[in-house]
Amino acid sequence: MWNQLHDLWTMTPKCQRSLSRMDQTLRQARKEIDWYAVLPAQAAQAVLKTYFQAWKNCWDGRADAPTFKARIRTVMSVDIPQGRDLQIKRVHRRWGMANIPKVGRVRFRWTRDLPVGKAANKENRITGARLVKDALGWHIAFRVQSLEPRPAPHGGGEVGIDAGVNLPLALSDGNHQNHGRPPRLPDGTADRDKWLNPDEKAKLLRLEQRAAHRTSFRRPKERSSNRLQKTYDQIKQLRARATRRAVDWQHQTTTNLARTYGTVVVEQLTITNMVKSARGTIEEPGKNVAQKSGLNRSINQEAWGRTVTMLTYKTARHGGTLHKVPAPNTSLRCSACGFITPGSRESQAVFVCKNPDCGWEGNADHNAARNVLHLYRTGLALVPAAGRAVVRRPRGVKPAAAR
Ligand SMILES: [Zn+2]
Repeated sequence: MWNQLHDLWTMTPKCQRSLSRMDQTLRQARKEIDWYAVLPAQAAQAVLKTYFQAWKNCWDGRADAPTFKARIRTVMSVDIPQGRDLQIKRVHRRWGMANIPKVGRVRFRWTRDLPVGKAANKENRITGARLVKDALGWHIAFRVQSLEPRPAPHGGGEVGIDAGVNLPLALSDGNHQNHGRPPRLPDGTADRDKWLNPDEKAKLLRLEQRAAHRTSFRRPKERSSNRLQKTYDQIKQLRARATRRAVDWQHQTTTNLARTYGTVVVEQLTITNMVKSARGTIEEPGKNVAQKSGLNRSINQEAWGRTVTMLTYKTARHGGTLHKVPAPNTSLRCSACGFITPGSRESQAVFVCKNPDCGWEGNADHNAARNVLHLYRTGLALVPAAGRAVVRRPRGVKPAAAR
């Protein structure tokens, strides 16, 4: 459905593209093409709505332009737009049941309080759900509407946060949020599988070797065998488990930060640009591409963007605020004297100021976090509109303003 819509959108001349026109075409297609009509009308509408929202996100600079979705790499999800179809019932302390259109009654694990039965009223109710599939199975996410009192302003202090190389999150007050896992291996490379325990790591290695062995028998363009596919699935499951642990840690940490501090300041990092700049151009190829992209992978894995998103809504929920400051040089500048002196950074972990009048020494990530907070205190925080201008332009989309 998504790919059909994208096809239609890209074939339509620019001046004629609109949501209502797409909707009309969809309705027409449902009358004329059998297999369109089989799909529930609401499901088709939900895809159209999601597709149009994807374009809105792109135009507002929040995301890349929508593209075709591949069967393998895409997260599969099905929307259930109406809450009353679900008929949710709690059957056990840990299990609930819900009606899924075209599927029937299914059990799901009851993990949070839901406004169901007597708890439901006009203000607090379930307005829909979404089924999402990952390597570990199907998950159900409920859309809940609820009334909450506006939070009182947070009385907590200010803090700057740096997404460190050695510390996952370094705070300007000298604390840090650690997950007890080395972000880098002793040889300096990023540990991709740090969220897995030694047994799981060994299993992953074994599975990867098995997959490589089976791939070696495959002739070009041959479909992967069922056994190979099964090995791939097992690898995916281990990776999904690692991701789940990482997200859990992020949730706990960001909740903790939002509870403790009233004003949180972070760097405005554009990760995609950093990966690109390491590679360089054809005329001027980048230096140390492998090391830098290893660093970038590590940053990517810390999923800084996700942390910031979580902090944004969690600080708001606790009555605090999140501010972003421009990133350049926060890791190079000394946080005690404010100068950038060449050669100041001793290693990835230690910062020693080479300014003869200063000589401050400390953890490199704390130094950056202190700089981040200082930038905010001197009034250099980016206002959201300025932050938007930083976002890179997606491929194939012309800038709105003339060059
Ligand atoms: Zn200094």
